[in-house]
Amino acid sequence: MIGAIEAGGTKFVCAVTEDGEKILDKVMIATTTPAETLQKVVAFFDCFSIHAIGIGSFGPIDVNKDSPHYGYITSTPKVGWDYFNFIGSIREKYKVHVAWTTDVNASAYGEYHKGAARDVSSCLYLTVGTGIGGGAIINGNILEGFSHPEMGHILVRKNKQDLFKGICPYHEDCLEGLASGPAIEARYGVTATTLYNRKDVWELIADYLAQAIFTYTLALRVEKVIIGGGVMNHTNLYIMIRQKFKQLMNDYISTPNLEEYIVAPALNDEQALIGCFLLAQDLLNKN
Ligand code: ZN
Repeated sequence: MIGAIEAGGTKFVCAVTEDGEKILDKVMIATTTPAETLQKVVAFFDCFSIHAIGIGSFGPIDVNKDSPHYGYITSTPKVGWDYFNFIGSIREKYKVHVAWTTDVNASAYGEYHKGAARDVSSCLYLTVGTGIGGGAIINGNILEGFSHPEMGHILVRKNKQDLFKGICPYHEDCLEGLASGPAIEARYGVTATTLYNRKDVWELIADYLAQAIFTYTLALRVEKVIIGGGVMNHTNLYIMIRQKFKQLMNDYISTPNLEEYIVAPALNDEQALIGCFLLAQDLLNKN
């Protein structure tokens, strides 16, 4: 059996599969201290005979196999989790292969093989929620250089009417600082759900997201951009983003039809878990 851990800043989701796709059992665990959270993760996996585990984790994480901190969550502001040895803690309990990547890379991998991008050879997955992050798959490989991309912190052109300075402690007005869920709530001082009918709010967020996708498109030329995350529950955002993207691109380069280019995930919030299963399965097949 294969296990998956989708490790988020607010919750962990653990699941098991036999065939790499169908979830046989699943548990949600609140992210508290590493010790307490991992204890619950282990309590779940102890009920099964696991041969490999895939982890898609919140970041930043160390994915460089030559680094002494490979398998660690690194400089996160999340209390107790900075320089947490994630792979080490799992291997202490289970002598199995462990696949390790970011939560968004796992989602991209799941959508690439089984979801919205299953018919193309490259895609980008962007999550817009508590934070903003992205991962890309090119010809079946996760895009990585020295480390994983940090697509949420790219700079965008500030809308002149937007006087909000942003919430990112490093850059203030980067994409995550301006367009993540907490940034929306901090800008208006109310919860995002109470803003649901405020067209101006979503036009602004769509503008920033379209600018980001414009940049990713020019840099990577992937065949599909999949956007997930809680903020995207405002489904009109997809339409608004496509419109703004079209204006920005101004026919400079060709893209697929925008209804097919900028899309929602197709795996019902299971994309990260399925990506983790597949990455763990890849490891099993290789070894
Ligand atoms: Zn930033």
